[in-house]
Amino acid sequence: MEIICNQRKFFQTGKTQDVDFRIAQLKILKQGIIEHEQAIIQALKADLNKPELESYLTITVVTREIDYALKHLKNWTKPQKAALSIDFLPYSAKIYPEPLGVVLIIGAWNYPFQLNILPLVGAIAAGNCAIIKPSEIAPHTSHLVAEIIAKYFEPRYITVVEGGVETSQKLLAEKFDHIFFTGGTSVGKIVMEAAAKNLTPVTLELGGKSPCIVDTEINLEHTTNRIVWGKFINAGQTCISPDYLLVNKQIKNELLDSLKKSLKEFYGDNPAISPDYARMINQKQFDRLVNFLQNGEIIVGGETDPVERYIAPTLIHNISVTDPIMQEEIFGPILPIIEYSDITEAIALVNSRPKPLALYLFSQNKNLQKRVLQETSSGGVCINDTVIQVGVSSLPFGGVGDSGIGSYHGKASFDTFSHYKSVLRNSFLLDLNWRYAPYKGKLSLLKRILG
Ligand code: NAD
Repeated sequence: MEIICNQRKFFQTGKTQDVDFRIAQLKILKQGIIEHEQAIIQALKADLNKPELESYLTITVVTREIDYALKHLKNWTKPQKAALSIDFLPYSAKIYPEPLGVVLIIGAWNYPFQLNILPLVGAIAAGNCAIIKPSEIAPHTSHLVAEIIAKYFEPRYITVVEGGVETSQKLLAEKFDHIFFTGGTSVGKIVMEAAAKNLTPVTLELGGKSPCIVDTEINLEHTTNRIVWGKFINAGQTCISPDYLLVNKQIKNELLDSLKKSLKEFYGDNPAISPDYARMINQKQFDRLVNFLQNGEIIVGGETDPVERYIAPTLIHNISVTDPIMQEEIFGPILPIIEYSDITEAIALVNSRPKPLALYLFSQNKNLQKRVLQETSSGGVCINDTVIQVGVSSLPFGGVGDSGIGSYHGKASFDTFSHYKSVLRNSFLLDLNWRYAPYKGKLSLLKRILG
């Protein structure tokens, strides 16, 4: 593919090795984003009916990430001294971060701006050339990302290739130095299989069912506000939104009342007319979600409008763990509520499923916090809040098991797009012959030194 060849040639000029060049490019990217803030907000509105405040937040996650990289880049790029034992004198050992080369970033549709540009920040910081393939399912944002990148960067350095599954597969057939993919677990497997053919390393930012455990030792109002916010922003189409609640049965009724109250405060009596509530991205997702309303008992919500692709914020209970809604990631504004009697039960349920991207726990009880942290595994954990962990650049973001491979954000992004090259240096001061043949008489000395 010509664009890949051109990027390889550009990479080989060594220009991207220059840290000042990378800093300049990050500043250009930030400037480009600021200049297009309104256009980004409009594109997200057109694709997802995303409220302006939510769009502003997603843009800010990116600009703050750029600031973080700008602040730390000189430090990150410095070779790190590695410790050497005394018998290695007069050697010295260092680890040099080096860029990988030409990387491919494949984005998902749910945060279609952030999921393309945030990994790009890491790719630039680490000194790579990049090809971005945004999701065709959010076409307005895909076009805009292509337009912004083309305006500020030369294609031989950074470019966008728009298109759907076929385009994605054509790109995946090529040799890259890294593939960074965000999307569902099933496509993640396809990406990894394609990458294996070229021995290309991958980062897979996938999804899954992120549980939210609610204990009795909580501030009820804060808890339900934080759950409702994290679940219903972007109408539930967030990879780390709480997928289902596991609630201590002693507090269930109070929690339900408070959830209803929070929902009403956030979106009013009729969320369909709230300016602060998004829509399903397309008909396919709408239909998939409407099917989930067949099982269990709706506590609140359940209203739908296919023309608008609207699904009201919905709370469901009396569902079975074998119902379809508990078999796949919901990725929409429906929140099933399951009760437990003992935390052991809740932990066992979490552990009976693939490892999630996020796990939420609402409890002030330190012992319970410790137990959940120790006895479960997930990409990340957020205690007494939801989703907000995504904005913390110092915390690596990624999954484990079925929820993904690798991580990014902040230094983790730099690491993802770098190779850490080990360099050992000797000098010509000495040349002890203990390792050279003939070995006769040297073994006993060696045993004394190394034993
Ligand atoms: P999607 O359909 O937009 O697909 C993602 C990308 O893969 C797109 O660019 C698409 O063109 C491409 N693609 C789709 N099918 C393909 C195929 N057969 N071969 C090659 N490429 C293909 O997104 P999605 O998968 O529906 O995204 C939703 C999922 O993404 C959810 O599971 C969500 O949890 C997850 N997600 C994860 C994160 C994260 O950071 N871990 C963030 C957002 C979304």
